[in-house]
Amino acid sequence: MNSKIETLKTWIAESDNVVFFGGAGVSTESGIPDFRSVDGLYHQKFDYPPETILSHTFFYQNTEYFYRFYKEKMLPLDVQPNAAHRKLAELERAGRLKAIVTQNIDGLHQKAGSRTIWELHGSVYRNHCLSCGKSYPPEYIRDAPGVPRCSCGGLIKPDVVLYEEGLDEATVEGAVTAIARAEVLIVGGTSLTVYPAAGLLRYYGGNKLVLINRDETPYDGYANLIFREPIGQVLSQV
Ligand code: ZN
Repeated sequence: MNSKIETLKTWIAESDNVVFFGGAGVSTESGIPDFRSVDGLYHQKFDYPPETILSHTFFYQNTEYFYRFYKEKMLPLDVQPNAAHRKLAELERAGRLKAIVTQNIDGLHQKAGSRTIWELHGSVYRNHCLSCGKSYPPEYIRDAPGVPRCSCGGLIKPDVVLYEEGLDEATVEGAVTAIARAEVLIVGGTSLTVYPAAGLLRYYGGNKLVLINRDETPYDGYANLIFREPIGQVLSQV
């Protein structure tokens, strides 16, 4: 691993255009379960799989049930950033990292101090009233008894992209631009099987593609550097 780390270190040190693209694996080291993995949220005490509960249809038809699940599983407000989040924020401050593209909705990159973040699936930190548009902090959602309602009486919805919903166009555009212009692209904690997020990788035209993932991905053949160790462990060495 040492010569690979040295290579990665050099690439980052010589670039002012590193982009990080991350998935659920970035946050599992902070204790947030990956609900797509077998030991994740599945097989727990809810009557439906997370993919059903976290869908657009379910949100409107079973709002109370949705929020029961959401508050318990999706609002990890006391969770702290880990070594990977902290290192990425540090690299941005040092002028090496240009942007983070993430599939996570937990807001941990912001908490760590990162600024340019394209959140493909939204964030639990933003919520708004469907009737008047008023914004609410996540604590309001957490503390509301049952379904969170606006002062106007409207239903509050988290700015999180649910199943059946499309990604925000401006966010995708920002992510595509960052990836297309990146000199070094570091991809971590994602199996790269979930579309359309995984398709974003195709926009990268450079020759410094770094994959950090425990398991094999469909993009391993395109990578210039592959690490199987935990992301925090790899990044804290660069
Ligand atoms: Zn309202």
